[in-house]
Amino acid sequence: MEYKNYIKIVEDWPKEGVQFKDITPLMDNGKAFKSAVDEIVDYARAKDIDIIVGPEARGFIIGCPVSYALEIGFAPVRKEGKLPREVIKVDYGLEYGKNVLTIHKDAIKPGQRVLITDDLLATGGTIEATIKLVEELGGIVAGCAFLIELSYLNGREKLNGYDVLTLMQY
Ligand code: 5GP
Repeated sequence: MEYKNYIKIVEDWPKEGVQFKDITPLMDNGKAFKSAVDEIVDYARAKDIDIIVGPEARGFIIGCPVSYALEIGFAPVRKEGKLPREVIKVDYGLEYGKNVLTIHKDAIKPGQRVLITDDLLATGGTIEATIKLVEELGGIVAGCAFLIELSYLNGREKLNGYDVLTLMQY
């Protein structure tokens, strides 16, 4: 499927110079969204994944249907102050801004095989931080899956040694 037909490019949002890739038209189209999720489900099945981990908010949109399809868990990674119980945290830099990510301390059991999902790989900062959280809890990052990769930002370099699936590249 030509997924790029369902991505809208928004110039200068959320700030000047950024070409934001809007995935909501893809989500609006049931067939395109299902096809994209199904590709990630197949990838996760092949990697024998035990649990999905996704950073807020669009990592939830991609990860939750995959976890539902495979009948495995989903653990949310959230910004500081959003998770109600004991967390571990990590600092990270975004394509535009800075932040702290957290995960519940008991979200992953040591040795579990984890698939990390998000909508888009830009500089890789978000996923690098998410990997740190997973590994600190003893999880094995068996794969990372995204709808979109912004190749010109070289996020893959931060994911050296990890298996990465992206459905579209710009
Ligand atoms: P990174 O940490 O790789 O630099 O940035 C990726 C994160 O920022 C992802 O969580 C993603 O949701 C968000 N992001 C950055 N740029 C875009 C964009 O153009 N489109 C969308 N949909 N998300 C973006």
